[in-house]
Amino acid sequence: MESGRKQLDTRGIRKFSQDSRYFLKYYAWSAVLFSIIDIYLFMLWDTNPLHVAFSPIYLLLIPLGLYLGGLSAVFIHNAAHGSFRPRWLNRVAGELAGTHQLYGFVGWRTAHIIHHHYPDNPERDPHPPLNLSFWEFSNGMRTQLAKVLTDSYFDIWGNGEESQRIWKLKNLCGFFGMAVRLIFWFLLLGPSLFVLVYVPSYIFNYFFFSPFNYYTHRRDPNSSEGVFEVLNLSNGFYYGLTNLMFFGIYHHRTHHSKPYLFNPQKLVSTPNRVSNDLVTGRRDLPPAIHQAVD
Ligand SMILES: [Zn+2]
Ligand SMILES: [Zn+2]
Repeated sequence: MESGRKQLDTRGIRKFSQDSRYFLKYYAWSAVLFSIIDIYLFMLWDTNPLHVAFSPIYLLLIPLGLYLGGLSAVFIHNAAHGSFRPRWLNRVAGELAGTHQLYGFVGWRTAHIIHHHYPDNPERDPHPPLNLSFWEFSNGMRTQLAKVLTDSYFDIWGNGEESQRIWKLKNLCGFFGMAVRLIFWFLLLGPSLFVLVYVPSYIFNYFFFSPFNYYTHRRDPNSSEGVFEVLNLSNGFYYGLTNLMFFGIYHHRTHHSKPYLFNPQKLVSTPNRVSNDLVTGRRDLPPAIHQAVD
């Protein structure tokens, strides 16, 4: 950690910055909760109506699984910004999508709010494309995300023995939590629906984020080193269809200026491109506004 780095902007991540055990408690308690649910579902295995025998007709469920995987990305993102109404739905939708994505809601939301505070910052942004190729970015995206969250935690709480112990324990609970969430889906859906719906949905979701995070931010080709821009992408078949099916999610420039909109595509008046100059600190983007309940 360099000295002299500006203090982390903690707007929207209040609990993360006020309680050093916030993540640990969340990951530990959710792992316990899913362990109990798993035991319960295991006991109900024989009577669970979702445990259907495989039939070729069920192959038609694969597209549904793929769509749910994309919807899970939209839900966790919009829930992170508090865009669902009524407000209590944000936590429900976020946790549901976080259960689907296995790591829960809280870590995702925190990393994403940090992204909005520091877009394209090489140290603070959890997924800055910078000058990387798509494959370099994709391969390193999740490692960078974990690193930024870890650095952010130690920036706030210091890199002492106690905070290191808490963070290690949190990682352990997080790993265990992912395992019991995965078992949860298997026990809930049974082997057929797990393979035909859950697995495609998970794979689609997993690979949805890298092109999204990569292509919506880029180095400004018309400016000097250190100037990055956020884009609204809507041209062509892929972006058109994805925006149609997933609530205008590629209108990312609009999203950065108005993160509380459920569907940023509906706001057509924002310019298509906007720049962040990391060298001079100039930002065309208005300050991140979000209504995340933390
Ligand atoms: Zn962004
Ligand atoms: Zn966002």
